[in-house]
Amino acid sequence: MSQVREIKCPHCGEWTLWNGDVDDRCLYCGGFLEPKRFSREVERQINKELLKENDYFFIKPGDGDLTRWFKSILNQVRWLAYYVQIAFFIFVTLLLVLLSLITG
Ligand SMILES: [Zn+2]
Repeated sequence: MSQVREIKCPHCGEWTLWNGDVDDRCLYCGGFLEPKRFSREVERQINKELLKENDYFFIKPGDGDLTRWFKSILNQVRWLAYYVQIAFFIFVTLLLVLLSLITG
């Protein structure tokens, strides 16, 4: 449900139409009608992406020294596990190739 109403543009001061959406722009100057809300929305999206990429070991600025240290160790272990998995995969593949060559 979107209701169109008139709103005074914060950028140029003209009266323009606003649907109540975060990305609505002024009809006259093209500026966002709710710049603060829009940037908050973008910020929220970016934060969500960041959290997804770094998952639960993401070091937050508010973390204490011990938490930072603990999380960085966990991160290293996680990467190590990742590389071990790759190494294992390569090893198994090579083994299969070797076996097929021997028995082939
Ligand atoms: Zn405007």
